Amino acid sequence: MASEKIMIVEDEADIRELMRYNLEREGYQVTECASAEDALVYLEKSTPDIILLDLMLPGTDGFALCRKIRALEKTELTPVIMVTARNEDADIVAGLEVGADDYIIKPFSARILLARIKAVLRRCAVEAVDSKNVVCFGPIEVDRKHHSVRVDDKPLTLTLSEFKILDLFVRRPGVVFSRYQIVDAVHGEDYPVTDRSVDVQIVGLRRKMGDFSSMIKTVRGVGYKMVS
Ligand code: CA
Repeated sequence: MASEKIMIVEDEADIRELMRYNLEREGYQVTECASAEDALVYLEKSTPDIILLDLMLPGTDGFALCRKIRALEKTELTPVIMVTARNEDADIVAGLEVGADDYIIKPFSARILLARIKAVLRRCAVEAVDSKNVVCFGPIEVDRKHHSVRVDDKPLTLTLSEFKILDLFVRRPGVVFSRYQIVDAVHGEDYPVTDRSVDVQIVGLRRKMGDFSSMIKTVRGVGYKMVS
């Protein structure tokens, strides 16, 4: 069951109610706003996890509201799905240009609405992890900005390739990476990276991780993953 807070900005009450009905049934917490002005009042006291934004609104329209949402520090990165009745490329492009993450064209089915919301939330969660400078998993702390790693609070000295591999793993614990994907992540090195050299890097990384070396698990025939 979902639990995210969704703000719907839509001036047509019947569409709003239909959206609320379908979203609440999935467990989402829904707030309805009938205008951009209402939405801005709501945003002063609350921060939704995702915003469904109708473009054609009385008063301030959806484009202008989207720009304001992106300009506010607290909603700068909040996912916005624009909802438009007009299947016009120009509107969609304009909406994406003012910072919307995706769009839905009216009339839409509840299944499409829910699928888009889930996809956008998933994508934004991944982007949020990727944009962080410091990421921790268990005893491991990777700091991209300072290019440093601590394991169990002790600094580790890693090569650039080892650092990039560990950074990749820590950002996606439990995800299996093929050697090819790992090569991709360390691409741009000053020497060619091959499948075999990935294995060599992993050996080096594990040795440096000492007691925590088993956190990098070999997935036979596939690649590697990080486990707790
Ligand atoms: Ca409208």
